[in-house]
Amino acid sequence: MTLSVLEPAAPAAEPVVTSRVSLIGRTRAGLGDALAEIGVPEKERRMRVGQLWNWIYHYGVRDFSAMTTIGKGLRAALGERFTLDLPEVTAEQVSTDGTRKWLIRMASTGPRDRGAEIECVYIPEVDRGTLCVSSQVGCTLTCTFCHTGTQRLVRNLTCEEIVAQLMVARDRLGDFPNRAKPDGAFVPNDGGRFVSNIVFMGMGEPLYNFDGVRDAIDVISDNEGLSLGRRRITVSTSGVVPQIGPLGHEMGTMLAISLHAVRDELRNELVPLNKKYPIAELLEACRTYPGVSNAKRITFEYVMLKGVNDSDADARELVRLLKGIPAKINLIPFNPWPGTKYECSDWDRIERFSEIVFRAGYASPVRTPRGRDILAACGQLKSETEKLSARARLMLDQDEAAAAAAVAAE
Ligand code: SAH
Ligand code: SF4
Repeated sequence: MTLSVLEPAAPAAEPVVTSRVSLIGRTRAGLGDALAEIGVPEKERRMRVGQLWNWIYHYGVRDFSAMTTIGKGLRAALGERFTLDLPEVTAEQVSTDGTRKWLIRMASTGPRDRGAEIECVYIPEVDRGTLCVSSQVGCTLTCTFCHTGTQRLVRNLTCEEIVAQLMVARDRLGDFPNRAKPDGAFVPNDGGRFVSNIVFMGMGEPLYNFDGVRDAIDVISDNEGLSLGRRRITVSTSGVVPQIGPLGHEMGTMLAISLHAVRDELRNELVPLNKKYPIAELLEACRTYPGVSNAKRITFEYVMLKGVNDSDADARELVRLLKGIPAKINLIPFNPWPGTKYECSDWDRIERFSEIVFRAGYASPVRTPRGRDILAACGQLKSETEKLSARARLMLDQDEAAAAAAVAAE
């Protein structure tokens, strides 16, 4: 594994002790509350919310003084009580393939909280730029092949913290009007938008943080602001069956299911939530997912584990199970992590599996591992970076190139 490019985060400014709260990530209702707090009369609030919304989410401004459509007095009042600060990026890594990974420290929630750290990964492709975001810090579920599953749940992320991941990404990529793009940045061929798609495939189970994820998706998809259409947002779940219908009704996003096994006995082991919601119930929820159609297919994720779930019989059973469900199948090469008992299936096994699925009429792309050199794999976010970044961060101040070489040699 080589780590050929490792960029430091911009030098962190001395932490400013402030009791002011950031408005980044708030819903319209949340911005309305902020205006009420500083005494803006109710009849004026709707219009003011619209102005704030546009400056924050369309233009990405970071200072109230830039909000030229708002009078000076109100700008000053806002600035006294609130900020437009983004959470701190404590490490940024750029892979040779353009993948970028940020370690983001959320604001502290109290005197004993250092601020939760989460990771967020940006994957540029020719026709799209995908941001992989987290919904929780850690996870309560204990999928045996997933590194996040070995970490305890710290807490749900708030709506603001979920939206902030996109705001950080767009800020770092210069993906707001009139912003400079970083050197060497690759703009996907999609009307110049860097981030065109979002997947909830970072840390955590999004359907166990339903309200936070729903509010964040409302903010992200609002077409007067960040404007990312709901069809470009995918929520991935390990199978929280009772929340799948509500996800379709209330969020209207694309759905991805972490299936990984075609028999209950094996899925009980790989995805223990299966004991509560077995495969048949899960697939029934998929059949009735609101809006599901050939134009809005459900993605089934299937991690390829050597000798565990990768036989020809498994592939045939997978095809049989999904019959009648408008589906895409995503085969994911297992990404090993220290201490795991699993291995990734051999390449020819993955090809054979994929061929059976393909012959049955499914496009079955094997998800190309991206950003491997910066450990940007789903399911093993954060913990690896913590190990890496503690040392890397120290050294980066001194010599970027030497640091990258030293970390790669570890
Ligand atoms: N909790 C949700 C979303 C986060 S996990 C879910 O389980 O769907 C995102 C995806 O990464 C899931 O499909 C998960 O199964 C997969 N994943 C987890 N660990 C992995 C690993 N080590 N290698 C490859 N994929 C992994
Ligand atoms: Fe949690 Fe998803 Fe990992 Fe399972 S695969 S432990 S649900 S993050």
